[in-house]
Amino acid sequence: MAEQLVSRDKPRLLLHACCAPCSSSVVERLSADYAITILFYNPNIHPRSEHDKRRDELIRWGKQVRVPVLVEAYAADDWFAAVAGFEQEPERGERCTICYRLRLQRCAERARAEGFTWFTTVLSISPHKDAERINRLGSEIAAASGCSFYCANFKKQGGFQRSLELSRQYGFYRQNYCGCTFSRRESERRRQQRSAGRT
Ligand code: SF4
Repeated sequence: MAEQLVSRDKPRLLLHACCAPCSSSVVERLSADYAITILFYNPNIHPRSEHDKRRDELIRWGKQVRVPVLVEAYAADDWFAAVAGFEQEPERGERCTICYRLRLQRCAERARAEGFTWFTTVLSISPHKDAERINRLGSEIAAASGCSFYCANFKKQGGFQRSLELSRQYGFYRQNYCGCTFSRRESERRRQQRSAGRT
């Protein structure tokens, strides 16, 4: 990936990101037209050690490609309070809507406070994420924030495949669950079912 060229002519975009693998092809795609700053705000990620691992990988890669990375403090209590009552929802259910909204809301607040014209998120790169829902939430939040939300489905047009290629190229750590303790449990259950099916 070419180093990011910072140009005064490009509109500034604050990109919410959950990890380096999901950020890579999105940054590659957007950096021709936007001056990107990444925001790492993911109070959903559990445990803390996993949060820090994903954060540090993203910071390392940001330095490598010269994309600034802003980091928010780990606020797991806020996340657990926000999803209270929705713990048993399956992945892609209502708990995820709350989780997307919380992170997009914070990204919009930082974007407005720091003079960005645009904000968006890498989340739609994942085949497990509902881009339509993310875009609807982002647009709703944008209407109240004074910044514009960049609607996208980053997994399309080979975006997800490209993120796999870039992950190999940069030697990224790739997690095997979305982030929260509930998704971790679900992923572990699926893994056990697969291995039981093989025996
Ligand atoms: S599965 Fe992922 S998107 Fe859904 S609540 Fe958990 S961390 Fe958030």
